[in-house]
Amino acid sequence: MIEGMIISSIAGYYHVQTDQGLFLCKPRGIFRKEKRTPAVGDRVRILPEQNEGTIEYIYSRMSLLTRPFVANVSYALLQFSIRDPSPDLLLLDTLILNSLVHGITPIILFNKTDLTDQTENERYQAIYQASGIAIHFLSVLQRDGLDYLKQTLGKGIYVLAGQSGVGKSSLINALADADLTTGQISDRLGRGKHTTRHTSLLKLREEVYLVDTPGFQNLDIEEGVSLKDVVLGYPEMEEYAQCQYYNCLHDREPKCGVKQAVKERRIHETRYENYVKLLNELRLRKDY
Ligand code: GDP
Ligand code: ZN
Repeated sequence: MIEGMIISSIAGYYHVQTDQGLFLCKPRGIFRKEKRTPAVGDRVRILPEQNEGTIEYIYSRMSLLTRPFVANVSYALLQFSIRDPSPDLLLLDTLILNSLVHGITPIILFNKTDLTDQTENERYQAIYQASGIAIHFLSVLQRDGLDYLKQTLGKGIYVLAGQSGVGKSSLINALADADLTTGQISDRLGRGKHTTRHTSLLKLREEVYLVDTPGFQNLDIEEGVSLKDVVLGYPEMEEYAQCQYYNCLHDREPKCGVKQAVKERRIHETRYENYVKLLNELRLRKDY
């Protein structure tokens, strides 16, 4: 038996990448009986026979996204653009929150830097600086910042998410074009315009993979997130959350350390405003 990772799935077949090459595999029958579906990103053990094989064992998952159906995602690239469209920062904060509640590390990408000047970049940099979340400025059109981005990504599986029209498909294509190996696999799987969609992982570097379909298409706060969870999307608030009330939501309460830090400009006003908006969005739900 050899170990590997599922890098694509189509019509009940799975491509498993191993040290000894790529194998086209079917899961053994027991998985179906147990209603366990292998997912792209799953670590598996296979029994190989020439270039084909059987998936015999699926290792336990660190995480599972449902749309796209991908296991073990560690990072979310949250893509926005500086212009056309200008960034919806409330949506960005929502996606940061949704990533962090899934245990997924967010990384912010601001695309289309070719449309503006440096001062605009600095404005957005300033808003997210204190959060500690990594930020990259790119122009996919001019291929500016792409190599640097690739080089700085740590090992793991990445999913791309963000506002529509910001260049997500362009980014996936730009990153995929540079990688012939996966390009060939994709062709063999019929990743053309006329075939049904399937999910696969693009290999960006050794042990660095990008899901080729944008994720987190649910642009609302995830189900199950409560008012007290919203702060999880705002790591910069943690050190100031020494408030009079132990369960302070940093909203209308008096003697609030977070509000004090906003006044002193240690926490960015825009981030705080969006934090309150997210609280209010949740309050409109019955089940928070
Ligand atoms: P998606 O909806 O996020 O997948 O966005 P697309 O990849 O479809 O891109 C939307 C539009 O933005 C297209 O017209 C792209 O050509 C354009 N676009 C993508 N990247 C850039 C960029 O870096 N600069 C500029 N000016 N336009 C870009
Ligand atoms: Zn407080």
